Amino acid sequence: MRLPPLPTIREIIRLYGLRAEKQLSQNFILDLNLTDKIVRQAGNLQGASVCEVGPGPGGLTRSILKQGAADVLVVEKDDRFLPSLELLREASEEKLRIAHDDILRYNLETAFPKIPKSDWHGEPPNVHVIGNLPFNVSTPLIIKWLEAVANQSGPFIYGRSKMLLTFQKEVAERIVAGVDSPQRSRLSIMSQYLCEVKLCFVIPGKACVPPPDVDIGVVIFTPLIEPQIQVPFKMVEKVVRQVFHYRQKYCRRGIASLFPYGRSDLAEEMFELSDVHPTRRPTSLTMEDFAKLCYTYQNICKRIPGIFEYYYR
Ligand code: SAM
Repeated sequence: MRLPPLPTIREIIRLYGLRAEKQLSQNFILDLNLTDKIVRQAGNLQGASVCEVGPGPGGLTRSILKQGAADVLVVEKDDRFLPSLELLREASEEKLRIAHDDILRYNLETAFPKIPKSDWHGEPPNVHVIGNLPFNVSTPLIIKWLEAVANQSGPFIYGRSKMLLTFQKEVAERIVAGVDSPQRSRLSIMSQYLCEVKLCFVIPGKACVPPPDVDIGVVIFTPLIEPQIQVPFKMVEKVVRQVFHYRQKYCRRGIASLFPYGRSDLAEEMFELSDVHPTRRPTSLTMEDFAKLCYTYQNICKRIPGIFEYYYR
């Protein structure tokens, strides 16, 4: 789509007095070549329904519209951006819808009422989630959306919708880290058991205004047809969290912390039945190892009431 001539993002910021709020970790991307490059990672957006989270002054939003999206819903928490988004809405021939809300609370299940649910086993639907959010929002949000992938709820009610999101570079590297990588962490397992993940590229912090102290990783998530671990999300999360809580120790330590004092027999059962050696380091465990640990833990939880509710302090 060709947008009518609009003020540049820098002019928009000046015209509407949109000073970035440091407490809200606001950093804007003004270079529309860069926003085009980010949005291209989502693939062909012709006719797409897109939810953009945190549009701010609207740089990424322009690129999403230019790349042919038919219905773009932006969810922005800070009302100072609403007048400039309104200008873009008028220029977009009504393709843009604006929600003044917090994405952590916003219900995306009703966001695209005209989009039929697509078969989870088929190709991803033409529904995309795109966002350059503050880092303190993007990490809790991805955990929330990974749970939504597991439950096929939220933005995944339409099928295996892709998510294109930015993170602090180190977090992006953790998301995609493979076995034995020093960055391997809870986020690697939680992301990769549910999604194919790709770190598309890194944006130097200085490309933003004002520049954050860190660089930015652009990550695309495509939900898998079959999760690599077929155990409820909360259960996977608990096992993975405990194992990586003691990332410098043998995995024996984290697994033992899943069970109450005096039940070392259950930790031994975990190792025996899942065929994982207790002296393995958390970073060396493969997805298959985690899957076997989770299945064994699930069986123990089914057999012994109260085990899942037990939290080591
Ligand atoms: N997307 C713009 C860009 O790339 O230039 C702005 C990026 S700025 C890092 C993050 C934006 O997310 C800000 O506009 C901020 O107000 C918005 N935001 C922060 N937390 C949010 C939340 N919980 N829900 C919706 N928007 C949020």
